[in-house]
Amino acid sequence: MTQPDFDKLCKRWQKRLRMQNWKITARMKNAEAMGPNNGFVEFEITHLSADVDILETLDDAKLERTVIHEFLHLMLAHWEFPESDRAQGDAQETAINVLADSFYALAPRRRNK
Ligand SMILES: [Zn+2]
Repeated sequence: MTQPDFDKLCKRWQKRLRMQNWKITARMKNAEAMGPNNGFVEFEITHLSADVDILETLDDAKLERTVIHEFLHLMLAHWEFPESDRAQGDAQETAINVLADSFYALAPRRRNK
């Protein structure tokens, strides 16, 4: 995916998820920078600012689902819990995967150009 298409994709999902109050800086990064992750998010909840990194070698569908996934982490950021709480972490991850897949499946595709 080209950088301009990636920027458009991120803006579109930020709007669809009604997260325009967030200042999100999203970047595609190479495998070396991403390690084992497809996506990564870091945020500052008091200022609603976030950096989102997405693995650049993902195919378009997986890349879009990963953008949605990371944005949903931001949406749920107010309900953070200790990192040691594996049960909550796993439950949130499962919920986010289901939601991201559903949003992706339901989104109009023709307007993605
Ligand atoms: Zn996740």
